[in-house]
Amino acid sequence: MVYRVAYDKDAGYPLNHLHTSIAKAFVGDWGIRAASEAVQIFGGYGFIHEYPVERMLRDAKLAQIGGGTSEVQRFIISRLMSF
Ligand SMILES: Cc1cc2nc3c(=O)[nH]c(=O)nc-3n(C[C@H](O)[C@H](O)[C@H](O)COP(=O)(O)OP(=O)(O)OC[C@H]3O[C@@H](n4cnc5c(N)ncnc54)[C@H](O)[C@@H]3O)c2cc1C
Repeated sequence: MVYRVAYDKDAGYPLNHLHTSIAKAFVGDWGIRAASEAVQIFGGYGFIHEYPVERMLRDAKLAQIGGGTSEVQRFIISRLMSF
């Protein structure tokens, strides 16, 4: 999904807002799931600053907040799908 949106942008096609918001929401939600699972696998080491895993969870969280939150992406998706 992400590569498709990036490919279209690189190729100069008009931005498909539905695809873009779906990709953004998907990346945020699955990034959190993957990073959270990584923290769980590392156990206590996943939580402390000495290892980069806790940072990955925080970084993943930004994808749900920055550049339009997940809630806003779902807003956009539902509006575009209702046309
Ligand atoms: C590290 C970092 C870097 C950033 N860099 C930039 C940058 O370079 N440029 C830039 O412009 N901004 C940047 N931001 C700001 C970022 O885009 C905003 O934090 C983001 O858009 C959310 O806005 P807000 O913090 O005002 O939250 P709010 O708008 O106050 O939202 C708080 C919560 O309420 C939810 N919410 C709000 N309204 C609704 C609604 N109508 N329905 C349902 N839920 C709703 C949101 O989804 C969110 O979960 C950055 C933020 C961070 C953390």
